[in-house]
Amino acid sequence: MVKTTDSARIADLAAGIRAGARAKLARAITLVESRKPAHREMAEALLQELLPDTGGARRIGITGVPGVGKSTTIDTLGSNLTAKGHKVAVLAVDPSSSRTGGSILGDKTRMAQLAIDPNAFIRPSPSSGTLGGVAAKTRETMLLCEAAGFDVVLVETVGIGQSEITVAEMVDFFLVLMLPGAGDELQGIKKGVLEIADMIAVNKADGEGATRARAAAAEYRAALHILAPRSAVWTPPVVTISGLANEGLDTMWTQIEMHREKTTASGDFQKVRATQKVAWMWSMLEDRMMQALRNNPAVGARLPELEASVRDGRLSASRAVGQIAKLMGL
Ligand code: GDP
Repeated sequence: MVKTTDSARIADLAAGIRAGARAKLARAITLVESRKPAHREMAEALLQELLPDTGGARRIGITGVPGVGKSTTIDTLGSNLTAKGHKVAVLAVDPSSSRTGGSILGDKTRMAQLAIDPNAFIRPSPSSGTLGGVAAKTRETMLLCEAAGFDVVLVETVGIGQSEITVAEMVDFFLVLMLPGAGDELQGIKKGVLEIADMIAVNKADGEGATRARAAAAEYRAALHILAPRSAVWTPPVVTISGLANEGLDTMWTQIEMHREKTTASGDFQKVRATQKVAWMWSMLEDRMMQALRNNPAVGARLPELEASVRDGRLSASRAVGQIAKLMGL
């Protein structure tokens, strides 16, 4: 139960966030990221309170291997957008941060212009827990940012592993940045990334890189062409950009707006958002269940022995699961 003093604090935070107060937003994000059960409860109450104020942003995921130019591009794109009157939040999902203790994404120093822009807000990746846990916190932070009036939320992730799919599941549009390397690069790209991309932008299309970037773009176009279309209204375009020289970013943004218009008109936008919400409920539930399992003392006491028995082949995996479930009262 949320205590009366906490209710007053929640009301105060909610009002502050709605008014766009950055200090209140930062405090609320700290609550969302906290592991303390009391904070968790307050965060839940706050999110429920702010629910009607959420959902208003363009939610855009951005991925690419380290060095492709994510921070440079986000810095330039974000600044273009704030200059046009948008309020831009930059969030990150960096699962490596929980292992290394430091995030390679979302660091303010990587985005020099946005870091001092009063209409931008940069938050590094939460740094503890599983990918699901980290992503859930980022998603809740996104909702808080929307309630605070940010109308563009950029969620950055690195081009490794499952994190891209996880981020794609929390955004409206998934942008994949690629390096101009044509043939060689193409060998290495994961089919999975092409399947979730709503657009591919070949970065560093400037100076000597311009020709190679165009060649790479042609190859990506051909690669995308072979895939079965995912949407009746949207074919992922391939563009060339220079995040550094601020070239092609307006065209890129126009495409993102066009995607919004087309998917809204077809009803896909609303459908995807609704499906995402339910998927997040399940993902958070799974995380909560796993946490309960790990924190259960009876399970904790038996787990090493059960695991050893399964490893040695003395106990079948299904029998072990049965015993654990029984300990959990299931
Ligand atoms: P991230 O690791 O994906 O965030 O990549 P960064 O934004 O840190 O960029 C990595 C390096 O590539 C830096 O030295 C950037 O200056 C450079 N870079 C980024 N974008 C461009 C671009 O559009 N053109 C050129 N020539 N270099 C770029």
